[in-house]
Amino acid sequence: MSFDFLHALMPIKVVIDPDTCVDCGICYNDECPEVFQAGDGSTTLKEEFQTNGPYEGEVPDELESCVKKAAESCPTEAIHVE
Ligand code: SF4
Repeated sequence: MSFDFLHALMPIKVVIDPDTCVDCGICYNDECPEVFQAGDGSTTLKEEFQTNGPYEGEVPDELESCVKKAAESCPTEAIHVE
């Protein structure tokens, strides 16, 4: 089993900084509605991806490009992907 294969099975950790988010809607309306949703003044992760409150969670590997596009498009860099 190669490292790359193991990596492909690893979930992607996503953290949103609600203090930095200006609720522009780009992530949850345009770039990655599969993962993000409108919250109360800032975006949150959809419930199924939350692991530690609404702003921290893990998403399956197949949604990595979607999450990364949202992070790159966020005007305030409020989305962090690990
Ligand atoms: S793109 Fe960034 S600023 Fe806009 S709603 Fe999403 S996290 Fe907030």
